[in-house]
Amino acid sequence: MSTNNAYAIVFNGTKKPLEKKNFPLASDIGDNEVIVEISLTTVCGSDVHTWLGHRPFPTPCILGHEMVGKVIKLGACVKNDFSGNKLNEGDRIVWSMTVCCKECFFCKHNLPQKCTKLFKYGHEKSDVSPFFSGGFAEYIILKESSDIFKIPDELSNEEVSPLMCAGACVLNGLNLAEFADCNHLVVQGCGALGLYACAFGKALGAKKIIAIDRNESRLDFAKEFGADYTILVNNNSESIEQVKKITKDQGADYVVEVTGDPNVINPGIEMLRVGGKYILLGAIYPGSDFTVDSSKIIRNAIKIIGLHNYSPKYLKDAMNLVKQLKNKYPFKKLVGPNFDFSVQGVENAFKSLDSKKSLRPSIIPS
Ligand SMILES: [Zn+2]
Ligand SMILES: [Zn+2]
Repeated sequence: MSTNNAYAIVFNGTKKPLEKKNFPLASDIGDNEVIVEISLTTVCGSDVHTWLGHRPFPTPCILGHEMVGKVIKLGACVKNDFSGNKLNEGDRIVWSMTVCCKECFFCKHNLPQKCTKLFKYGHEKSDVSPFFSGGFAEYIILKESSDIFKIPDELSNEEVSPLMCAGACVLNGLNLAEFADCNHLVVQGCGALGLYACAFGKALGAKKIIAIDRNESRLDFAKEFGADYTILVNNNSESIEQVKKITKDQGADYVVEVTGDPNVINPGIEMLRVGGKYILLGAIYPGSDFTVDSSKIIRNAIKIIGLHNYSPKYLKDAMNLVKQLKNKYPFKKLVGPNFDFSVQGVENAFKSLDSKKSLRPSIIPS
């Protein structure tokens, strides 16, 4: 067995420093595995939450679950991508963040992202072979049953990487709510997920997009991604009033929550019209309690929809949408600045996202 070594940045737990570590990179992979050289990794908000200790997490772990890379070696049985395109060494690819068994109850009931044997890149212990399972590393080994997607030549690495978590999740959320032609979509929170929600929501049939955030510069960004109205939040009752005014007292057809703040949920529900749908994607951490008057849900026939992760096909659909819309919205501008592939570089990238100085800071590991 021939073996090389490669570097990864390892998360050892909250309040412990990140560590740049050398691991053996086996070249004799399994027949259903793929060795990928990582070309670009973007930092997701949840990487930062993990680093800050907002949730229990397996360690040691190579974080990073939004990335693209180049096929270095294909296992003997890996022939095609998810769509049936032939895979070759040297191809640029992206892959689903989750790997599922395709056999359990959830896999068979349209919730593969909740598989009972779920594996999730950037969320696994990295002290066992084949070690490379996250984005802050020179290489990654894709395991059996990974859903792989060839990247079309028209799309840059920057346009694809954030789709692996943020973009695909937003698109799956809209689909789950049976998003269709409508008058008004409200987007609460204009980070990367919110900007995808603005652009995708408009492409999928919203006549007007209302974007809400606490940060003026993010609202300016939202306008570039299709927002027709922006609301700078001072207090919640003011924002509700503004949405009512824009919608001529009817309320919005859909509201998407991508703030991560449970305090926006109740006001968000108030912004809906009778029969409206509330799509919860952001306030994911345990303890995100909210109180709502159930009579409003019942009397107004409101639907509340939650989604975590995404079904792999939405990564393909998100890529296709970005391909269609790339000249209309500046998807590339979501990514950057770029930080060094070093302990300091990754920590600075985390700090940059945490302080809202950037939307998707990036690392180029190799
Ligand atoms: Zn993520
Ligand atoms: Zn399963």
